[in-house]
Amino acid sequence: MKEFRADLHIHTLLSPCASLEMSPVAIVEAALAKGIEILAITDHNHTAHGMLIRKLAAEKGIYVLPGAEISSSEEIHCLAYFDRESDTDDIQEFIDANITKTANNPGIMGFQPVIDRNEMVVKEIEHSLYGSVRKGIEEICSVVHATGGLFVPAHIDRPYNSLYSQIGFIPEGLSPDAYEISFRTDPEILMDEHPELRKHTLLKSSDAHYPDNIGRGGIRLRMKEISFDEIRMAFARTDGREAIII
Ligand SMILES: [Zn+2]
Ligand SMILES: [Zn+2]
Repeated sequence: MKEFRADLHIHTLLSPCASLEMSPVAIVEAALAKGIEILAITDHNHTAHGMLIRKLAAEKGIYVLPGAEISSSEEIHCLAYFDRESDTDDIQEFIDANITKTANNPGIMGFQPVIDRNEMVVKEIEHSLYGSVRKGIEEICSVVHATGGLFVPAHIDRPYNSLYSQIGFIPEGLSPDAYEISFRTDPEILMDEHPELRKHTLLKSSDAHYPDNIGRGGIRLRMKEISFDEIRMAFARTDGREAIII
């Protein structure tokens, strides 16, 4: 077994709230500088930059999980990680078919540009990526699993847009692969407050919106090698694999 440093919640400049400095190249450089070997790209309700960053990062020896941070109808943020491009396309189709579409106002909310590897703007997403998908967290979890992905409720202890802030408990029918806690949170204190978490894998990621944020918090994944299946097994604590909060 080896241990690999991971940061599994990163926004690019596509997210209206993220800095325009969060270009694919800048993200890869920041990850390299911090010694991070596994990244997940999780823009709000969009997967456009995941595969681009996977290709750029692979040239530097960094593995990228393309994904998204999906907003449920309860306004709970949910992370979804994928392996194949076709799966990210399928989940994007699901999001686009179900998201409440209101026009983005770049002057107030921020721009939502999709760029290419030369950092040229290819298009701008016109509807606000802050919208929610008209599906509940349990259904989104099922759809992500059916699409081959891993499902992780985001920053569950945050006072807004989180599982505990929006519904206050873990629904019985919910079967995520892990739970993400906020980057400042002490997991022991949180598990004292919520003993039901003790039997689950907890992740801590940066939720980076600026290059300097990348690598704050974070985890080490103990597994045989870096691959999607090994990450799935680390979340499931299979045969000694695990996620270790730093
Ligand atoms: Zn969030
Ligand atoms: Zn986020």
